[in-house]
Formats: sequence, C-alpha cells, structure tokens
Amino acid sequence: MDGSRPGRPTLRSRLLLAGILALGLGSVPPGAAAAAKLRISDQLSPLDRQRPLRERTDFVVLHTTEGGDRSSLARIRHGGLAHYVVMTDGRVRRVISRQRVARHAGLSMWDGVRDLDQVSIGIEVVGYHNRPLTERQIEALRELLRQLKSIYKVSDERILCHSMIAYGNRNRWHRHAHRGRKRCGMQFAQPELRARLGLLSRPAFDPDVAAGRLVNADPHLVTVLFGPTGEAERVAASRFTGPDANVITAERTAWFIARDEFDQPSTIYEFPDGSRRRGHEVADWSRLPAGTRVLLGQDPPIETAWRVLGRDGYTAGEIAGSAYAAATTLYVRPDGRVLRGDQLRESDFRRLPNGTRVFLGFHYAGQVSTGRTAYQLCGPRYRNETTLYLLPGGAVRTGAQIREDRIPGGTLVLVAA
Ligand SMILES: [Zn+2]
Repeated sequence: MDGSRPGRPTLRSRLLLAGILALGLGSVPPGAAAAAKLRISDQLSPLDRQRPLRERTDFVVLHTTEGGDRSSLARIRHGGLAHYVVMTDGRVRRVISRQRVARHAGLSMWDGVRDLDQVSIGIEVVGYHNRPLTERQIEALRELLRQLKSIYKVSDERILCHSMIAYGNRNRWHRHAHRGRKRCGMQFAQPELRARLGLLSRPAFDPDVAAGRLVNADPHLVTVLFGPTGEAERVAASRFTGPDANVITAERTAWFIARDEFDQPSTIYEFPDGSRRRGHEVADWSRLPAGTRVLLGQDPPIETAWRVLGRDGYTAGEIAGSAYAAATTLYVRPDGRVLRGDQLRESDFRRLPNGTRVFLGFHYAGQVSTGRTAYQLCGPRYRNETTLYLLPGGAVRTGAQIREDRIPGGTLVLVAA
C-alpha cells in the first residue's frame, strides 16, 4: 500500500484533503471517512464578490429547490440565492463563499432576530419539500452540516428550515404578519430525517408566534414543524403531500398552496377547463374556481430574464440592487447600445432613458453581422438556453429557440456570466 510510504498521501487522505480545501477549513476535522465522501466544487455566482461579509453565523437554514438539478443550480447561481447546493447525486456546489451573505431567506424572523440572511448559512437541497431526498444527498448533507456546525458552533436547534423562519406581511388572506409564507424545506423538521442528518434535536415551538410577534396562519404547517410525531403529524402532512394537495378548494386557497409564489410568473394555474394562466397574469384572486391545479416552480417565461427601467423601477439601483454597477449587469438602451454597469459613472446611470432593459448576470458577446456568426461570438454556448438573442425588432429568443443561420444581422448576443 502506498500509504505506508512516508510523504505519499493515500487516495483517501488526498480526497479528504480535497474536501477540506474545498470547504476552506484551516484544520483537519474529525470524521475523516465521512469527509472523504463530501465533494464540493465551486460554481460561484457572478454576484459572489459583491456580497458583503457576514458578521455572525448563528443559524444554518435548509431549503428545497422545488426543481431539478440543472434549472435549480442555474437559478440559484444567477441570483446568489444560497451558499451551497446539494445536487441529487450528492455532489455539492458552492455558489456563494461561506463568509459572505447569500440571499436565501427573504422576509424572515426567528426568535426576534430579523433578516436571517445576515446571520446564517443557506443550503439549497435539489428536490421538493414533500418528496424524499436521495441517499447520497442525505450522506452529503450530514457531512456538510457536521463541518459547518464545527466551524460556527451552531447547535442542532439552530439548524432550521426555511418554512420555520419565513414570515409574510399582511395580505388579502391574512390581516396580520404571519408565519406560513413558505413550505420550503418542511421535511427537515421531521425527527427521523434529522436523526439521519446527525441532528439530535429540533425547536420545540415557534418563538415568534409564542411572543406575539407573528400569528400562526397555518396550523397544519405548525403541526408538521413542531408537533408530536405520530398520527396527527401524518394527517397534517397529508394535506401537503396527497394527490390533490395542489388543487384549489374552498379551504385550500392559492395562498395555502403556493404561499408567496402565488403571484409569480413561475407559478401556473391550470383551470378546470384546461386553460392556463401564470401567477402574474391572474387579476382576481377571489374568482379562482375550485378544482384549479397549481403548478409551482415552472420555468418562468423568458420575459422575466430582464427588467425594464421606468416599468420595474425608476433607477438602476431600484432595478438591480447592489449589482447595479457590476460588470455582469448590462444596460441595453432602446437605441440598442449596450452598456456595462462597471463602466458607467453615477451621472451616466441617471441619464439612462426609460425603456432601457437591464440584464443581471450576463456578458455581452457582441453583435451578429454578415462576417460574425453567433458561433464566432460565443462558441458552442450559442445554443444554450441561457444565451439570449436580442433581435433588431425588440423580440428576445434563447439559444434553444433559434437557428444559427437565421439570426438577423444586428442581433445582440448575451451569454450567462
Ligand atoms: Zn427556501
């Protein structure tokens, strides 16, 4: 065995070392065999370097992506929406450096602490809140959690799921700020799964509801998250997991099924007559007929790939947030000029005309002309779904929707950063 020769690492220790380097640990953690199984690779979001460093790390928040491997990773990278993504084969992708802030929690509160993004690590597990994880995901997540717990000294009761910490402000269904905005990661509250993940305890109750800061808008979710295991929990869980769990009834509203994704373009309402409408196209929420099926996490239409100045916001900052001056934020003026966020001065931003389209997380590959084909501009990526073609008339197509020999001259090509 070459391990007996000094100075020559064994395969296992090399894998272990790779795992340690990948996580950025300074010292060798205990549990070497398990560590060897953890495979982390970098797929850093273009937003990573703009994200501020976190001052504290008091929580780890677990999510389910509600989608498949490819689309989940692309979406999470694009928005910098988690630190780690656990793929279905157990491999782990790092999307945001663990010292920085990832935007994974949204409107959130736990025990009076708000904006959990500032004090937590976010892990997205590819899959659905009401379906089992793969065995490899459980193994990888167990090891990832073990390492993070030892780095940050986070206790098991502070390994939470997104549905525990998310809350909603009052809306048409609820008169008070309330818990129950998300079902994300709900299964990570189950004691059996927690035990398999090496988590020996879970929170016993919702501290913000107990303190009166929030009301409980969903007794069934509460039972799943905090209730005793047994019949009651199974009955409650069946409301989320049964074959009709995504069908609207008198008591199961659009909000109950879709939570804060109810009005999003990625949520599709399929009416009893077979017609469909996306969340942002529904005008009257009191008239959704019983029997309407709600499909979550659908690929959003291509129109959501960009935002428009004067329609979605009035300043670059309003539209692009802290990424407004990033190299991967592109401004396409109505006259077709493409400007990069990092090349503009403050006064230039103020001069952008209404109708300017803002693309986040893209590089400009160039303009198609007689002498320059899409392939010459961006290579094999020309066919990617994430490559966008801005046609001279204003229409936009993806790489999956075009034929290279039919792209008109003057078309602008944007590739995902
Ligand atoms: Zn989530």
